[in-house]
Amino acid sequence: MSDLLSRQEYQAIADQLVLTTNAHINGKFTPAKSGKTYETTNPATGEVLARIASCGSEDVDYAVKKARQAFESGVWSRLHPSARKEIMIRMVKLMKRNRHELSVLESLDSGKPIRDIATIDLPETLECFAWYAEAADKLYDQMSPATDDALGLIVREPVGVVACVLPWNFPLQMMGWKAGPALAAGNSVIVKPASETSMSALRVAELATEAGIPPGVLNVVTGPGSIVGKAIGMHPDIGAVSFTGSTEVGRRVLEYSARSNLKRVVLELGGKNPAVVLEDAEAMDAVAEQVIRAVFWNMGENCTSNSRLIVHRKHKEDLLPRLLDKLRDWKTGDPLDPQNALGAMVSQRQFDDVMGYIAKGKEEGATLITGGEALAIGKGLFIAPTIFDDVTPDMTIAREEIFGPVLTILTVGSDAEAIDLANDTCYGLQASVFCAHGKKALRAARQLRAGTVTVNCYGEGDITTPFGGYKLSGFGGRDNGFHAFDQYTEVKTIWLDLSEHELDAGLD
Ligand code: NAP
Ligand code: MG
Repeated sequence: MSDLLSRQEYQAIADQLVLTTNAHINGKFTPAKSGKTYETTNPATGEVLARIASCGSEDVDYAVKKARQAFESGVWSRLHPSARKEIMIRMVKLMKRNRHELSVLESLDSGKPIRDIATIDLPETLECFAWYAEAADKLYDQMSPATDDALGLIVREPVGVVACVLPWNFPLQMMGWKAGPALAAGNSVIVKPASETSMSALRVAELATEAGIPPGVLNVVTGPGSIVGKAIGMHPDIGAVSFTGSTEVGRRVLEYSARSNLKRVVLELGGKNPAVVLEDAEAMDAVAEQVIRAVFWNMGENCTSNSRLIVHRKHKEDLLPRLLDKLRDWKTGDPLDPQNALGAMVSQRQFDDVMGYIAKGKEEGATLITGGEALAIGKGLFIAPTIFDDVTPDMTIAREEIFGPVLTILTVGSDAEAIDLANDTCYGLQASVFCAHGKKALRAARQLRAGTVTVNCYGEGDITTPFGGYKLSGFGGRDNGFHAFDQYTEVKTIWLDLSEHELDAGLD
């Protein structure tokens, strides 16, 4: 928290911001060829912040052409990895120097609390870019097992032009997770940020150019997913798309690939993640703290939000008042005020969706413990953190991803029932298990069908650990760690014949 400024200091930065509004293609800010723009608003105030370039397929074509030219020229793709590293580290330093500005930009555009951006999103984004920069010159290729007569080389090469299609809930961080390894591997990259939150990606691209990333290597094309995202998905000269967003749109991205050039597709999708409190769990105060964080962090607009608390009957009465007690520390309000832990919902659509789920919870007979209403804070889109008890597995709020500040509590009579219920979902992104007995906790972690399972805490691992989902939560690969390089590299076999072959005769 040491890097936080005051509300007044953040406001002063906001007042002086120069907003980035045009696409960033070939190292330059570029308006849409059609001249079209769309409004981006601050969801905490309703105020229009700027008009952003609303690109079309012709702008995607132009960006891909420039990205391809840069790739073929070798200016980045064939640069020594240690030189790529140096430039990326320079980019990280520039981002760090401009961190307060980037944090304010992100907060204004998304409604996210500045406190989280300044202490989590931004530092983790810097760490991510730096980690992949540092990894760039430490990756070795392989040699196959072979006899003296042959040599099999297994080498990795950048895919070429890759696209990163981003969601609005962690705009900076998702750009880091994808563009970081893609750039480190030598690709040319096209980022398509979410329409609601495009400004921080544009500013990062500008800083990347200032740091020395050559024109055409990191491009940001703004505009609607149905146009820009589709044009990317269908483009014959894009070799891979790394997508984070909803399962519904993810399916479409797969279809685009099937209908065009079979580009590689990696999808990071939704979740309905459980926090499972087993019979042997201890320290209910600590459990309550983790459970509250797991569901309300980032207003629940979080793919790993633990929106289902599955608790053993034995702990229920003890845990419930502690949850309410911990929640008192989570103040909702002005995102630019670092005292606030909860900001605004990102958009009217998201606000309406979440309020719809809250109404459904009431209608289907769950017991509302707290919240359940919008908060009148200026013209902002604020929702009170909400807890429903007596939720049954068939209720809509127990089954569908809400993507808002809503906790559903389901009570079970045994550990086996808890695990079955945790797995009774079409998703499998993350799960948290609370159990003081090491062996049982580990057994439960193995039984939970999710890409990440945390034990006695909530989390997603860190930059060193792969991240992605089972079932409808993901497809095709993993973000983070060395696993992410699989998304952005092709594997090539080079086979050399070393036998004393007739062909060699003339070479002596
Ligand atoms: P979304 O509507 O699926 O949008 C994601 C991205 O896809 C945006 O950039 C969007 O552009 C674009 N898009 C929309 N329609 C498209 C189309 N037809 N073709 C190609 N691209 C298209 O998701 P969201 O509402 O931003 O994000 C919420 C979802 O993301 C949740 O389900 C959440 O669980 C998931 N999520 C998953 C992870 C993870 O790592 N697994 C992380 C964060 C979020 P526009 O903004 O212009 O519509
Ligand atoms: Mg906005």
